[in-house]
Amino acid sequence: RVVTRFAPSPTGFLHIGGARTALFNWLYARHHGGTYLLRIEDTDRARSTDAAIDAIFDGLNWLGLGGDADPVFQFARSDRHAQVAQAMLDAGHAYRCYLTQEELAERRAKAQEERRPFRLQSEWRDADPATWPEGQPYVVRVKAPRDGETVIDDLVQGSITVQNAEIDDYVILRGDGTPTYMLAVVVDDHDMGVTHVIRGDDHINNAFRQLVIIRAMDAIEGGWADPAYGHIPLIHGADGAKLSKRHGALGVDAYRDEMGLLPEAVFNYLLRLGWGHGDEEIISREQAVEWFDIADVNKGASRFDLKKLLNLNGHYLREADDARLADLVAPRLAALVPGFDAARDRALLVSAMPVLKVRAADLNELAKGAVFLFAQRPLALDEKAQSLLTADARGILGNVIGRLSGESDWTAPVLEASLKAMAAELGVGLGKIAQPLRASLTGQATSPGIFDVLVLLGKEEALARLNDHAA
Ligand code: GLU
Repeated sequence: RVVTRFAPSPTGFLHIGGARTALFNWLYARHHGGTYLLRIEDTDRARSTDAAIDAIFDGLNWLGLGGDADPVFQFARSDRHAQVAQAMLDAGHAYRCYLTQEELAERRAKAQEERRPFRLQSEWRDADPATWPEGQPYVVRVKAPRDGETVIDDLVQGSITVQNAEIDDYVILRGDGTPTYMLAVVVDDHDMGVTHVIRGDDHINNAFRQLVIIRAMDAIEGGWADPAYGHIPLIHGADGAKLSKRHGALGVDAYRDEMGLLPEAVFNYLLRLGWGHGDEEIISREQAVEWFDIADVNKGASRFDLKKLLNLNGHYLREADDARLADLVAPRLAALVPGFDAARDRALLVSAMPVLKVRAADLNELAKGAVFLFAQRPLALDEKAQSLLTADARGILGNVIGRLSGESDWTAPVLEASLKAMAAELGVGLGKIAQPLRASLTGQATSPGIFDVLVLLGKEEALARLNDHAA
């Protein structure tokens, strides 16, 4: 039975690295028919915010990566964490350390002076509990093993060995009795039944430290098995440097709202970031669940590639249902076209989607491409459109109006035949007619195919627009 978890700290937005960690946990659980849980690690009270918690849930839900049960909030479980610390104290796997801040600082300074790494050796480690002074401040530290070594068979990194002498007697309960993060993670993972800890490889060292608690508690009460670990490499920018905003790495909400990406594109992109299945680039959710294996995750850092993400998005836009796209584009369009009325104009927007979506990489481009359909007459012409509408061209528009006014069958093949015949009669290429037509109908020099544009606008509107510019 497999139980995974995604355990973000709500100190900022859900970033791309976090979303990918969530995805790999979700996939691993799905692939093995297991359970995927969420835990909000909100013990850092000063830095955790409700806005960040909302943004995390919002982003996860958008990607279809919500947990299989109600999320666990770590801070609310402080009493339970303290209880485990007490059990370790009682059994001699942890000790009260009465060293003061000043004493610690002195020792640290001395180590630095002697140019050796600081490793705390607290004389309280082996003190008889009977001698623990009451009423004096102390912290609780784990009694980490001094001899031997600890081996982790990491699902991604392979076998990693650490000498136990390297593992410090870290604090599990602070002076004020509050549990530390290191303790909380271990207790929560155990209580949630987590079998597989899949997270960023910046937590590898923590795994060795956390195993100290796990093994102590297993010795004390049994039932605390080592989890399997999979530490996944960080994401780097295209230049190999640590990923930052400058690389186009934003919160998941920005991918949706600002960049206008589809969740299935971001999902597919994140999936391919450090994991692959042969040469497959386009991978559906179902295929991903079937194929995903944590052992296939790259050991090296993966590089964030904005262009690839946009390409994928273009692909998924073309695949997407037209009505759904229309609903996603409508608010963006309303911001661009004052007269746009989502209720009244929806049918036209839906019917235009097949020709619009093949020309866009994101929802913003898609909205821009749709503007001409809903713009008010007389159309504002951009510079290129203006330069296309020469006196000659305006004459051609007059000619086109004469020809198309009589057309009762307003369909692309009929309109195409008619305008081709006209071009032949005039002895000019079709472009000579199509370009001024496009300029007049869309206000731009680029647009979907001219016959599609004519059909979408309808006879009355198309002729009216042409009239506005014809000589
Ligand atoms: N809360 C930690 C973080 O956001 C994750 C800890 C873990 O996965 O064990 O980096």
